[in-house]
Amino acid sequence: MSGQKSSLRPIVVAANWKMHKLRSEALEYLEDLGTWMDDHPEGLGTRVEVVVSPPFTSLELAVEHRPPNARIYAQNMHFADQGAFTGEVSPAMLRDLGVDGVLLGHSERRAQFNEHDAALGEKVVAAAEFGLRPMLCVGETLEERQGGHAEEVVRDQLETALGDLDVIKATSSGLSIAYEPVWAIGTGETATPQLAQEMHAFIRDTLSSIFTAEIAERIPVLYGGSVKPENAHELLSQPDIDGALVGGAALEVDSFSGIVAAGLDVVSGSEARA
Ligand code: PEP
Repeated sequence: MSGQKSSLRPIVVAANWKMHKLRSEALEYLEDLGTWMDDHPEGLGTRVEVVVSPPFTSLELAVEHRPPNARIYAQNMHFADQGAFTGEVSPAMLRDLGVDGVLLGHSERRAQFNEHDAALGEKVVAAAEFGLRPMLCVGETLEERQGGHAEEVVRDQLETALGDLDVIKATSSGLSIAYEPVWAIGTGETATPQLAQEMHAFIRDTLSSIFTAEIAERIPVLYGGSVKPENAHELLSQPDIDGALVGGAALEVDSFSGIVAAGLDVVSGSEARA
């Protein structure tokens, strides 16, 4: 590993609102974020990409009031394009709204809603087929890490969820991976940059074996787990950490934009060194 950040991958900073914000609150956030992004045009949308992932009820509004160069992702979807699946939303419906992508396999969905890797495999393929950019979330629990199984768990999650994705679609779909150690989500506990970097390098090796080394070099691997403006710069400076999926600190524009600003700073520093 060179220790340098690759220019093949943008930094992606994604706001996961989870089950937060009424439509009026969503609109205020999107307008404020849009104003901040207008004031920071350099590198945004090219070297640093911004994603906002609202709950279903605010998706249409988010598409209509999308900040410049930002992408709007849903937080989940069914894999079928239609059918008798009460309470579910299909990839076709998301595309119809103008949504750009979808989070898949967030640990809260795995732990609380029985989301399984096999169904996730179908979701990843369906998202790619419908032109939705899949962001696949993976990560081990504290018990799995303490038992020495973190790599094995994450490798299994990746292999099962990505095994059916066509190699061409691995890059053309805009696939990204979010490594989110479950013990670091919403706990205030962050993986050290070194620990996260090691796991990201392992994820890239695994992506090489699932696809090819060239393709693995182009897939952004985001880190998630108590990222905030204060720790974002060091995390995003690691060679294989290509962004952040942010929960708590993404609920306010001030702190989320602080993380985006850290990404812009990392990119301008690595461009200056190149
Ligand atoms: C998340 O929900 O994806 C997440 C990383 O949450 P938090 O930033 O609050 O740990």
